[in-house]
Amino acid sequence: MTMIRTLARAGDPLLGFADPRRTALFLDLDGTLIDIAPAADRVVVPNGLPALLESLRDALDGALAIVTGRPIADVDRLLGPARFVAAGLHGGEYRSDPSEIVRHAALPIDPAFVARLEGLAARFPGVRVEDKGPTVALHWRDAPDCEAALGDALEAALTDAPDHLELRRGRRVFEIVPLHVSKGAALEILCGLERFAGRRPIMIGDDLGDESAIAAAERLGGVGFRVAGETFPSDAADFASPRQVREWLSVLLAEAR
Ligand SMILES: [Mg+2]
Repeated sequence: MTMIRTLARAGDPLLGFADPRRTALFLDLDGTLIDIAPAADRVVVPNGLPALLESLRDALDGALAIVTGRPIADVDRLLGPARFVAAGLHGGEYRSDPSEIVRHAALPIDPAFVARLEGLAARFPGVRVEDKGPTVALHWRDAPDCEAALGDALEAALTDAPDHLELRRGRRVFEIVPLHVSKGAALEILCGLERFAGRRPIMIGDDLGDESAIAAAERLGGVGFRVAGETFPSDAADFASPRQVREWLSVLLAEAR
């Protein structure tokens, strides 16, 4: 049912894949290609996913990128030995070619402010701080009752923090992110690369942070699709699950070949 909605909304059931030279794919990882796990380090990569993505990338002459909140090193660990063009840390880092090094798009957050965040988090048992360099995540998955109080405390801390930072809400996580860093900005930057230029971007994601990338894809004449889960209810989503996304990508691959 959900897939039918997706295809009908897109107008073209195969979204231009009949002409793979004109399509670019931007894919979130967790909750979009891979099922959410109780902890980020416990996700299970489905058999065949890396090979599917490699085949799609080749069918699109390289115009496929992973756009994730994770570091790109995580992407390589999960999908390796396959390597992809990627934006990690919500756009805080990039790799513009699979054979290139990862480049940071923002300076690491000031260690003194990170220490303040750690002190603040210590007041909320179960909250885990993850210093990713250009961004800092405060995971409250194991402390669900603290969401409101933790969010208020972070808003307060940001009022006298370096003014290029803002608070973003994700799935059971708060992230402190530089203002100029977003998945939407990442998608626009990647679309400027030769391998993506002149193609119609398709962005698929499952969380609030993906909204900016969906909006960017639509601004650039493409489309964005949402995957149902903890953020989007089924009736607001285009895909019911990561499994359905993978099945649909398989259909697109068959069409592109
Ligand atoms: Mg996700």
